[in-house]
Amino acid sequence: MQRRLFFALPAQSVASALHHCQQQLHEEGHRKPVNANNFHLTLHFLGMQDEHILPQLYQVAAELRSPPFELTLDQYGLFRHAHCLWLGPQHPAPPLLHLVNRLGESLTQLGLPVSTDYRPHITLFRNARAMTQCPAPALRLQVSEFILYESISAADGVWYKPLRRWPLLNQSVDEKQQ
Ligand code: ATP
Ligand code: MG
Repeated sequence: MQRRLFFALPAQSVASALHHCQQQLHEEGHRKPVNANNFHLTLHFLGMQDEHILPQLYQVAAELRSPPFELTLDQYGLFRHAHCLWLGPQHPAPPLLHLVNRLGESLTQLGLPVSTDYRPHITLFRNARAMTQCPAPALRLQVSEFILYESISAADGVWYKPLRRWPLLNQSVDEKQQ
């Protein structure tokens, strides 16, 4: 069976602050908010894949060593082609790029396509045609795990099912000595 897959960071810990941003943006005329249960920051989008690949994805994710980190979400942006209005980090934390790059290397080794123009973001509105004039907040997102999600299209809209999650870990003393 084919499944639509992506790796992402969950953003539920800042959901109420993101919802507050949506309320401000709504006053500006943005009308199609992302459901708060769906807030996430994509690391790698894999698209439709045969489910036989899942054990390999679970293995590379489990073997990945990357430390936990904090991300400051402090910039609004607009993807003009996708009509997405988003909030993201103005300066992506080096540990985020480390995680994305390491995961990307593993996915490439599995023969999966990896996009080269990575732009970390949390989508707040769809069908957005104009950039916001609202000043961006500075939300701190504590990142301690990453998740492989399945994107499921249902009658009442898309939702994301977490298939498996992995903690981000600081290197142990033993590993550093190796
Ligand atoms: P829908 O496509 O139904 O409007 P969605 O875009 O939220 O909803 P998906 O298309 O399954 O759902 O995407 C899941 C995640 O992967 C989203 O964060 C989306 O922005 C990202 N994504 C989707 N397509 C791509 C792509 N071609 N390149 C990079 N990221 C993508
Ligand atoms: Mg999409």
